[in-house]
Amino acid sequence: MDYSTYLKKYPSADGFFGKFGGAYLPQQLVPAMEEITQAYLTICHSSQFINELRRIRKEFQGRPTPVYHCENLSRKLGNCQIYLKREDLNHSGAHKLNHCMGEGLLAKFMGKKRIIAETGAGQHGVALATAAAFFGLDCTIYMGAVDIAKQAPNVARMKVLGANVVSVKNGAKTLKEAVDAAFEDYLQNYKETIYCIGSVVGPHPFPMMVRDFQYIVGEEAREQFKDMTGFLPDVITACVGGGSNSIGFFLPFINDSVEIVGVEPLGRGDKLGDHAASMSYGSEGVMHGFNSIMLKNVDGEPAPVYSIASGLDYPSVGPEHAFLREIGRVKYDVASDLEAVDAFFKLSRYEGIIPALESSHAVAYAMKLAKKMGKGSILVNLSGRGDKDLDYVIEHYGYGENFKDF
Ligand SMILES: *Cc1c(COP(=O)(O)O)cnc(C)c1O
Repeated sequence: MDYSTYLKKYPSADGFFGKFGGAYLPQQLVPAMEEITQAYLTICHSSQFINELRRIRKEFQGRPTPVYHCENLSRKLGNCQIYLKREDLNHSGAHKLNHCMGEGLLAKFMGKKRIIAETGAGQHGVALATAAAFFGLDCTIYMGAVDIAKQAPNVARMKVLGANVVSVKNGAKTLKEAVDAAFEDYLQNYKETIYCIGSVVGPHPFPMMVRDFQYIVGEEAREQFKDMTGFLPDVITACVGGGSNSIGFFLPFINDSVEIVGVEPLGRGDKLGDHAASMSYGSEGVMHGFNSIMLKNVDGEPAPVYSIASGLDYPSVGPEHAFLREIGRVKYDVASDLEAVDAFFKLSRYEGIIPALESSHAVAYAMKLAKKMGKGSILVNLSGRGDKDLDYVIEHYGYGENFKDF
């Protein structure tokens, strides 16, 4: 298959990747999304915007992040070589800042004064608060009261960065209520505000925009890997929550003969409610303004989801992933909580890199695959660093005494 025109073709002008994507919105928000789409399509091709984003990435974020060869880990697993794209070294410790800086810069160019978002575990909130501080924008983050109590360090970070953190106290007081509150705010205030979505999800243009801002990850990685080895990797892989780090990492390789695998969280097992593997166990449906593959309960509503990695527990997935699987270009597989924690300890101990539990899912998959392949190479997108997860891991798994050493 020839994918050289893929990026030009998808999404369509109305935001579809095949049948997935689109913008399913309350009527009042249609003009707001239309405004963002039009602004994005013009502003983002201006040399002023491109140059400013390039400068920010280099001077503020510390890009390019390196590609690193895990020689110790690879040796333990056999002859297949594992490499990491080090998004954990991106400023603020994860890939999320890539799209938050893009969204912040767009807000600035559009003359908006304020950016808002919801956050679950707080990672997106921290990245957006960082962007707001940089651009001098007002920032309001909606967070469920239950999540606020659980995520004190991220709440503290957002406040230190100058964001206004609003505690949402209705319903179950978690992410869903925070999304509703943020949408409510946006409906009232869209003239001076942009609602910055935290992954390649939500209505058009967000899946496209966030993808474009994350594209740099794979673009750098492809060049760096080629410079390092003279080849392209046999397999590339990344964890998939909403799907932003993976999509940005995957697409620059879409026209290469490279196998691409997205890894979803299997959590405690394959029962509904015990995992968040939407692609593996879900079906087509509309939620949060877009059509994709989602996990539903018996009433067709978004099902409860679970993963040890709070950044992965989303009941749907970016529409482009649903499309990439449908056309057969990307495969999706799973890694469980225990496999992720095992990878967390092994990467820490043998390479001196403490990965985020989200990223550990991709590392776990790569370790399994490397054993099976016995040769060749796998490039993993290490989406973030694991400092945020240390307390939780130690409390529940000690220092890894119960995990087998290869
Ligand atoms: C949020 C997060 C993810 C999951 O989000 P995607 O949109 O799927 O990339 C993965 N890794 C880390 C470190 C995160 O913070």
